[in-house]
Amino acid sequence: MSNFPVDKIRSDFPILAQQVYKRPLIYFDNAASTQKPRQVIDAIRHYYEYDNCNIHRGVHYLSVKATEAYEEVRRDVREFVNAKSTREIIFTKGATESLNLVACSFGRRYVQPGDEVITTIMEHHSNFVPWQQMCFERGAKFRVAGINAAGELDVDGLKAQVNEKTRLIALTHVSNVLGTINPIREIIAFAHAHNVPVLIDGAQGVSHLPVDVQELDCDFYCFSGHKMYAPMGIGVLYGKEALLEELPPYQMGGEMIKDVFVDHTTFNELPFKFEAGTPNVEGVMGLGAAIRYLKNIGMENIAAYEADLLKYATVKMSEIEGIRMIGTAKHKASLVSFLLGKIHPYDAGTIIDKLGIAVRTGHHCAMPLIELLQIPGTVRASFAFYNTEAEIDQLVAAILRVKKMFE
Ligand code: PLP
Repeated sequence: MSNFPVDKIRSDFPILAQQVYKRPLIYFDNAASTQKPRQVIDAIRHYYEYDNCNIHRGVHYLSVKATEAYEEVRRDVREFVNAKSTREIIFTKGATESLNLVACSFGRRYVQPGDEVITTIMEHHSNFVPWQQMCFERGAKFRVAGINAAGELDVDGLKAQVNEKTRLIALTHVSNVLGTINPIREIIAFAHAHNVPVLIDGAQGVSHLPVDVQELDCDFYCFSGHKMYAPMGIGVLYGKEALLEELPPYQMGGEMIKDVFVDHTTFNELPFKFEAGTPNVEGVMGLGAAIRYLKNIGMENIAAYEADLLKYATVKMSEIEGIRMIGTAKHKASLVSFLLGKIHPYDAGTIIDKLGIAVRTGHHCAMPLIELLQIPGTVRASFAFYNTEAEIDQLVAAILRVKKMFE
């Protein structure tokens, strides 16, 4: 940890240098959205100053240049998650769109009345509601695996729900409320032994852990750019080529067609079949820069540094009297959710904010989980590799201040 270049890294993030309420900003809302390094901001600026043009359908210089830059990033994403082919990398608006795409297309193609889809109680709404609604529409059964007291997935319970009617398991890599890292490799291997494909919501995974989709053998893996230091409005759906080939398109329009006649239409090849309309080219440029930035630091180094931050925060915060940590799984990503006695998370978060520290409060778009836990929500501090132990000390001091105010 001592040789992790955190000072140098912090200097790459202009927003971190500012003061809020006359205090240095401490940004612990990284699970909601990460900040952007200068390299990402510069890449977007460069795109508009030198390359801006609609892609894929022009013969002129700028269009060819922008298309090449866009497809270059697809190659970078392929390498980043170690997909077999760029045909398996689809650019979307974000994890939510990726998840809706699969729920909609997979549901139409494979889910019949009486079939079953399994998800878990710790899912973000975006990996819960699309499956729930698709199951309602198609007369399928929507099954939800539970958790134990530490916030770890009930893996045996999930396995027990798999049967010959199961069409798909959709679960998160990392819980955005509990921080739990799910044993996805084990679940994927079990599911495949029963011929069930698995979708992984990697929105909270890909920014913290090295991801190798071939090694995981997952069938789909989704993530958002803005949670991995890239801009908002860009995301990725990885899918195994053979599966994607079988799925119907999600949206219709330009770019996703091959030929259109009055009486029928033929569709483009992968990945373009799933990229209808003018894409978010600037977002893709930013995503490419973010991936290069992460690769430069190294995902293994990031994971190790953040694991140390989590350990430090867990020890320091557990010492606070009356704190209740929500999510104490053995394998966790770098976030802590907590409650302070009977103090409402919103009140705690508001005071912490006035001390210059950005934390998130509420149900974190995981209402079924919050209801199960019978809590009003949590205060969540989520760490990135630009955060420091000194900032965590400040958070601890702020929590003590909140407690004092309410005592
Ligand atoms: N899945 C998880 C686990 C998340 O934490 C989030 C966002 O917080 C999402 C999906 C949705 O991501 P987005 O809003 O970027 O589409």
